[in-house]
Amino acid sequence: MSALIETFRAIVGEANVLTEGDLSAWEQDWRKRSRGKSLAVVRPATTRQVADVVKACAASGTPIVPQGGNTGLAVGATPDTSGSEVVLSLQRMNAIRGLDAANLTVTVEAGCILQTLQETAEKAGFLFPLSLAAEGSCTIGGNLATNAGGTQVVRYGNTRDLCLGLEVVTADGEIWQGTSGLRKDNTGYDLRDLIIGSEGTLGIITAATLKLYPLPAVRLTAWAAVPSLDRAVELLGLAHRQLGSGLTGFEVMGKFALSLVGKHMPQLRVPFLEDEAAPYCVLLENSDSESEDHARGRFEALLETAFETGAVVDAVVAENLTQAQQLWHVRESIPLAQAEEGLNIKHDISIAVSRIPEFVAETDALLQRELPGVRLVNFGHLGDGNLHYNVQAPEGGDNAGFLRENEERINTLVYDAVEKFGGSFSAEHGVGALKVDKLEKHKSPVALEMMRAVKRGLDPRNILNPGRVIRV
Ligand SMILES: Cc1cc2nc3c(=O)[nH]c(=O)nc-3n(C[C@H](O)[C@H](O)[C@H](O)COP(=O)(O)OP(=O)(O)OC[C@H]3O[C@@H](n4cnc5c(N)ncnc54)[C@H](O)[C@@H]3O)c2cc1C
Repeated sequence: MSALIETFRAIVGEANVLTEGDLSAWEQDWRKRSRGKSLAVVRPATTRQVADVVKACAASGTPIVPQGGNTGLAVGATPDTSGSEVVLSLQRMNAIRGLDAANLTVTVEAGCILQTLQETAEKAGFLFPLSLAAEGSCTIGGNLATNAGGTQVVRYGNTRDLCLGLEVVTADGEIWQGTSGLRKDNTGYDLRDLIIGSEGTLGIITAATLKLYPLPAVRLTAWAAVPSLDRAVELLGLAHRQLGSGLTGFEVMGKFALSLVGKHMPQLRVPFLEDEAAPYCVLLENSDSESEDHARGRFEALLETAFETGAVVDAVVAENLTQAQQLWHVRESIPLAQAEEGLNIKHDISIAVSRIPEFVAETDALLQRELPGVRLVNFGHLGDGNLHYNVQAPEGGDNAGFLRENEERINTLVYDAVEKFGGSFSAEHGVGALKVDKLEKHKSPVALEMMRAVKRGLDPRNILNPGRVIRV
């Protein structure tokens, strides 16, 4: 193995091959639920170096775990404990290669931090609309590899919808140059879409050409208290009809989730927390290219209609950007508040929006029956039918012990219910190493065989993130 390490050093320089010291930043997942041991962490700075590292790994049959910001929630970027896997960190490949204003595109390297891209776009007068709470650390390569969603999907789609072309290093160490800025290109199989969402198992993304949008002239945010999930879905329908493409965010938050923010972050003001008539709150965002007066009028008209129909029982509209940011901050603090409350069982699920109220009513009741006292932290991107339906131990219970004893059983109850409602067990976080069993259980045998055929075809030696997503 030392010969391979020497080869890596010759390719990327000695300082960029890490084998000792504290490597937890690369060897431990973001939630600290999994800790591995790598053969080495290798940090290339160019596509050529990535290709040469992959060639060396292919020749020796060494498995590679591609990694960006290491914020993924499915343990896809963490090495196993064997000490035989190489973590290939793309963090140094972070250049913005060019912005084409007329084509409304930007070409960036995979290690570019999402927030850096958002800021670069904004400085040039454009919007790059992908937005998620990990944006200060996650990378474009990781966003593409997991097809990340986030808070603007209702208007702009997932990361896949924002990508026009990719540059990829294949499992043989060849470079596929596909960073085209074309919006139309029907020339056979769509390799770009095959790589997006493949979580490092089919190729290593080194660069991408992404879509830009005009910056909205005005952004309005409202926080509405709703009397039920049914009513939240009704409000979503009204918002689609009255705001059209101006609807850019629609988040739902259960009261228990919000009470955790109130408890662990008392400095934040959580609107309508005490309002017993409202078990859920909704955060709505309206972005518009029209004047503020016009947009505000339309936004307030939506809320008036919602009051009249009973879809909303109370609401506030942010007066300025600071207030809007404060409301978003409350929403984005839920995962942290939940972590403060103790270990919990996370489910990132999607169901057709129309069926969500029935799913939640049925599954809440099922869990309460089976595990009396469990607490349900329910929130998410209702506009996309995506819920973070998380389960916390009963009040005052031993969180770690509860997890040990019940995690598998709770997962089975929730994911079987998701399947019954025609949903997905992983809406936006991917499969990684965490949910390989779930994929095998819930995907059809035909779909699994097609996926295995693709994996065998593109990675015949099974060196790219082996054992993640799909076993071959
Ligand atoms: C606080 C928080 C909030 C989050 N919110 C959301 C959310 O709202 N929506 C959402 O979708 N996700 C969310 N996530 C998870 C999300 O998937 C990641 O934040 C992000 O997309 C992963 O990017 P990363 O650079 O950190 O990738 P990593 O964690 O490093 O890797 C993720 C996966 O992609 C692979 N990979 C990474 N880079 C490459 C590459 N260049 N080529 C090939 N494969 C690669 C890895 O092998 C791994 O399988 C959140 C995470 C956190 C911590």
